[in-house]
Amino acid sequence: MLRRAIGLLTRNMTSPVVPQKRSFAVLGIETSCDDTCISVLQCDLENGLKPRVVHSAIARSLDENEQYGGIHPIIALKSHERHMGTLVNDALADLKRQEIELDLISVTKGPGMKASLQVGISAAEQLASDMNLPILGVHHMQAHALTPRLLRDGPLPDFPYMSLLVSGGHTLLLSSQSITEHEIIASTLDIAIGDCIDKIAKDLKVPWHGLMPGAALEVWCKDEDLSTAERYVPIATTAELRKKFNIKVPLHAKVNVDGVRSDRMEFSFSGLGSSISRILKVMDLTENEKRGLGGEAMKSAFEHVTEKVIAGLRLGKTRPNALVISGGVARNSYLRQIMRSGLTKAGHGSLDLICPPLDLCSDNATMIAWTAFEMSRLKYASRTPILPRPKWPLTDLLVEDEAEFQATMLLRDKKQPHLPIKGPKPKRIKTTQEAEDAQLQEPNQPIELAL
Ligand code: AMP
Ligand code: ZN
Repeated sequence: MLRRAIGLLTRNMTSPVVPQKRSFAVLGIETSCDDTCISVLQCDLENGLKPRVVHSAIARSLDENEQYGGIHPIIALKSHERHMGTLVNDALADLKRQEIELDLISVTKGPGMKASLQVGISAAEQLASDMNLPILGVHHMQAHALTPRLLRDGPLPDFPYMSLLVSGGHTLLLSSQSITEHEIIASTLDIAIGDCIDKIAKDLKVPWHGLMPGAALEVWCKDEDLSTAERYVPIATTAELRKKFNIKVPLHAKVNVDGVRSDRMEFSFSGLGSSISRILKVMDLTENEKRGLGGEAMKSAFEHVTEKVIAGLRLGKTRPNALVISGGVARNSYLRQIMRSGLTKAGHGSLDLICPPLDLCSDNATMIAWTAFEMSRLKYASRTPILPRPKWPLTDLLVEDEAEFQATMLLRDKKQPHLPIKGPKPKRIKTTQEAEDAQLQEPNQPIELAL
């Protein structure tokens, strides 16, 4: 639920959020999963915004998580708590050295692991309060979707564009219409692609060697004897071996419904994961065959997402300006290769395919800072305390959740014990347009959003 700022402006909101200087510096914090990330982005307001990362640091806990075969929430939490203070102090010292003054603090508000999110939020709130700066809570998936706009010296590609977000917790095909409008074209019926790949890496007992499990699997399955172009072709490419493995291919995009061929847009990965586990249980495979199996599993998963992207393009009313592939799994070169050749075969070879550099594909704080910058230009800001939103549908980007609403009411009750809150709950404002319309009526008030 969105409330106007009147009477609710926090002390952090004393300065206008709208950037008015020559340059604008945003500090971002990201702790939604296991990586503790901090970044400072400086945008040149006079020269087409040219975003520049002036500080960036990341602390990982991969080695500690490896024994659990995945991310353990407690290990992740402890790692955030251990690293946050140092990362913040280092960032502030670096900014001082570079004589950069901050204008805005931003932090991931959700979705993600609640306790982990809270560590980032507390640090960000402390900073905003100490420095008397505005703060903005950011949606993690919105940030992945906006990442390509910070790559090309300014906010490009232009809307609309399509994004395939493939991460440890999500598999989303989006049509991004504006900074705040990201229509979901397809999402997963069961587990996320990254989760599936991590489970396959665990079943195949792939050593992580300090890499994320998916990255470790990619390296492990590669045939280093082949040329770079062929390297990602899995060992088990023959139909015979494929048949032998009998990998269950996930949901196809084209299905027969009542005798009519139609598009089915959901992703599904749990069947793929189970068939790999089953094969490993019933077959006695050599190390080389296991590597082949890993390659086949990746191939199935990546062809599945490619098929859905092509179906999404077929269904779309307008041609997107670009296709962006982002999220941790987008680091995989084999996925990029399968996507490129799939698009070309389907007649979309001229579509601009944007794959952010590897460090901006997986979780990072630069994307949080950039999203906060883009939102601040639309005059959005958050009020404190920011409550973490572990589950936060991207379609509810501008909608406050019920728990948050209740907490605010309690807060207000405590502050004004003799003035019970009466009347209906404030109306939800769902679109940027509505938010901007509301803003127009009272131009001096920053819009306050429960972001
Ligand atoms: P994110 O949630 O966006 O940080 O992405 C993390 C997920 O990406 C985890 O499931 C990783 O195992 C996976 N991942 C990272 N690098 C790769 C890669 N090269 N290939 C496949 N999956 C990867
Ligand atoms: Zn992510």
